[in-house]
Amino acid sequence: MKKWVYLFNEGNADMRSLLGGKGANLAEMTNLGLPVPKGFTTTTEACTNYYDNGKTITEEVQNQIFEALSILETQQGKKFGDTQNPLLVSVRSGARASMPGMMDTILNLGLNDISVEGFAKKTENLRFAYDSYRRFIQMFSDVVKEIPKSKFEEILYEVKKAKGVVNDTDLNEHDLKIVIDKYKELYKKEMQMDFPQEPKEQLMEAIQAVFRSWDNPRAITYRRINEIPGNWGTAVNVQAMVFGNMGNTSGTGVAFTRNPATGEKGIYGEYLINAQGEDVVAGIRTPQPITRLAVDLPQCYAQFMSIAAKLEDHYQDMQDMEFTIEEGCLYFLQTRNGKRTAPAAIKIVCDLVDEGKISPQEAILRLEAKSLDQLLHPTFDKKILETTRPISAALPASPGAAAGRVYFTAEEAKEHHDAGERVILVRLETSAEDIEGMHAAEGVLTVHGGMTSHAAVVARGMGTACVAGCSEIQMEEEAKLFHLEGFTIHEGDYISLDGSTGNIYKGDLPTQEATLSEDFNRIMEWADKFRTLKIRANADTMADAAKAVELGAEGIGLCRTEHMFFDANRIPKIRKMILSKTTKEREKALDELIPFQKSDFKNIYKVMAGRPVTIRFLDPPLHEFVPTEEAEIRALAKDMNLSVEEVKATCDSLHEFNPMMGHRGCRLAVSYPEITAMQTKAVMEAAIEVREERGFDIVPEIMIPMICGRRELKYVKNIVTRVAEKVKVERNSDIRYQVGTMIEIPRAALVAGEIAEDAQFFSFGTNDLTQMAFGFSRDDASKFLDFYYQNNLLEFDPFAKLDQDGVGQLISIAAKSGRTTNPDIHLGICGEHGGDPSSIAFCHKIGLNYVSCSPFRVPIARLAAAQAAIKQR
Ligand code: PEP
Ligand code: MG
Repeated sequence: MKKWVYLFNEGNADMRSLLGGKGANLAEMTNLGLPVPKGFTTTTEACTNYYDNGKTITEEVQNQIFEALSILETQQGKKFGDTQNPLLVSVRSGARASMPGMMDTILNLGLNDISVEGFAKKTENLRFAYDSYRRFIQMFSDVVKEIPKSKFEEILYEVKKAKGVVNDTDLNEHDLKIVIDKYKELYKKEMQMDFPQEPKEQLMEAIQAVFRSWDNPRAITYRRINEIPGNWGTAVNVQAMVFGNMGNTSGTGVAFTRNPATGEKGIYGEYLINAQGEDVVAGIRTPQPITRLAVDLPQCYAQFMSIAAKLEDHYQDMQDMEFTIEEGCLYFLQTRNGKRTAPAAIKIVCDLVDEGKISPQEAILRLEAKSLDQLLHPTFDKKILETTRPISAALPASPGAAAGRVYFTAEEAKEHHDAGERVILVRLETSAEDIEGMHAAEGVLTVHGGMTSHAAVVARGMGTACVAGCSEIQMEEEAKLFHLEGFTIHEGDYISLDGSTGNIYKGDLPTQEATLSEDFNRIMEWADKFRTLKIRANADTMADAAKAVELGAEGIGLCRTEHMFFDANRIPKIRKMILSKTTKEREKALDELIPFQKSDFKNIYKVMAGRPVTIRFLDPPLHEFVPTEEAEIRALAKDMNLSVEEVKATCDSLHEFNPMMGHRGCRLAVSYPEITAMQTKAVMEAAIEVREERGFDIVPEIMIPMICGRRELKYVKNIVTRVAEKVKVERNSDIRYQVGTMIEIPRAALVAGEIAEDAQFFSFGTNDLTQMAFGFSRDDASKFLDFYYQNNLLEFDPFAKLDQDGVGQLISIAAKSGRTTNPDIHLGICGEHGGDPSSIAFCHKIGLNYVSCSPFRVPIARLAAAQAAIKQR
């Protein structure tokens, strides 16, 4: 019989896949002899089993749960539902990868009308018992039965109002009894049945709810953003309750062994005296720094510090711990490798290497490549800050500078972000429901909450700037505005947040780029030593190229030449070319463009100083260049001696129903070979001149886009070769050059063996390849992809993360057959996936030579490539 349930003393830290992170660590701490309340874990396999069985928990699983429960009863010397001394438990989710705030927690489970009396007698605290019961009813109804929390809050509010008090703590046991009765009435009205009195029934419903929450929309969104597979499932931890709300020698808190924002060594955390479970994380009361515990409860503090050190030593990593003190007795409820900002992550691994605890390889593996994004985040221009006074300040919860328009709900933030605005999400406090809005926002500002509140933890994880706990804000959510220090900020107004200082500014402050630390350079040096993939950048301008080199690019993998034509003094020339009626006219117009193209190429060659540069010839459909504004059309007509009507008619004739599959890429070269000739001449002359001027060993790489077969490539290549050879003769140069192609059409991938006979390199254009393989328009897919995520039809955006099963297979086929017919062929990728860590790992696995990505993602790519190489060893 399969084992579905493990007592904490039956597991260990290596069983993360089965027990989830929380379960595995609770087991490990139990084995280490630390004070952990006893309990058991229902496995992640039980969760997938639940889904496989039409969302039911099988009898076999249930029986094992009840067996474990009866062991727990014996261990605790208490009975579930007992009238004298009832066992109460917490039920918490715990997936393999931590998913903060995504899954739901239920506390005080096991209370009912009878056991609450037993609990009151045992604790000699009637008020406390009733308060626990009313919290349980509320939490159970919300999490398990989805009865809106607000309905319960309303009842609580009414009872307080009737009594003329403001705080929950002003309610005595009689008042709470009234609250409980009203809560139960509400439950009955909503559910058409009584609140469940049988604790085993409560438990099974709670476990099911956790399993169910694995697939709630928030969890699906979180998984997609964090690339967590949907089939992992979550474990459920059932643990004997300990109470941090039993008076002033009780409390609860969270702490890190190093500062999660900076990486600085030393305990860092917060706690609340006389509080239960989620109060700290929810950020409703403002917590005390952990160092205060040394004053409040010195013995607990000493014990806490010693266990924290032991845990960090054991896991050899910064720990994030949750603890509860019940009447002077300390318990650890959780430990895990703490989430941290990218600068902190880098400092911590470098320090651990220096402390002799981990190797550089391990340091590389521990970093999350994507998080390096945070290091490259902007800051505010220092000069402007010197003359700009913040209107207020609060907790610097997640670093980075952000400026944007204020919105008060996650939905509105997302909507306006999708419409192209920079947005700042302002909330009383955030919860898991806000995740999409937070992701869409440049920055998040909250009224409540500490450094470990939901907003702070999630924003740090995302690398979104966050200022938390600005209690001076007076919110008027209905009116869509807030007041702060005499200012009134309306929806749509600009504010600026500095997540590194906590400062809040009025208006739209300009930002500037980040600078990188010494530790960052160490990491990059290690990464470069271990990786085998080369890293290039996609860069079309001198500035991009310079940035790419600065961030460690070894070449340019994609220079999109069309971007060079949009300049104000160039666009009229390309329009002239497009509107030309004869080849002669077109050649004349193109001649005017040559100097521009050539000088751009020369500048890029100079910046790249001999590093390889792949220049991709004109790709987009021509209609993208034609004027749409009346004034521009008139100007063009005048310039070309044509009537306005003629110009309009030609522009209209360029209209295509499917431009992405229309007259673009090499098809332009087939119809207008003179464009290819012009671009070849510009590339060759530029390369020859810079080679002579600077002595760089330049070998131009000319790349033909949108090829679907060998004959097409051959045709265009002939034009290139003819012109290139002519330029060589004219310039008396022995320069070498290469001609290659993009593989971005499925047919090209399938016949790549033939194509390779005429190509010196392939660059996989996975943007178009994904578009054509899925048949999803790359410009419109976002409109329907959300429905795909919601219905579990896709787990991630295939335009951001390579679909290895389908598109990846096309790449593998093409790479393999290309190498068969042309063993010397050089292979790379230049679609957006070239900067995505999991896609980079795939490129490494199938033996590509390089990946090419946007300059700011070059460090990510260097790190991801090193991780892939180390993992393969
Ligand atoms: C691609 O299709 O992946 C590519 C890099 O080309 P573009 O994005 O310019 O179409
Ligand atoms: Mg393309």
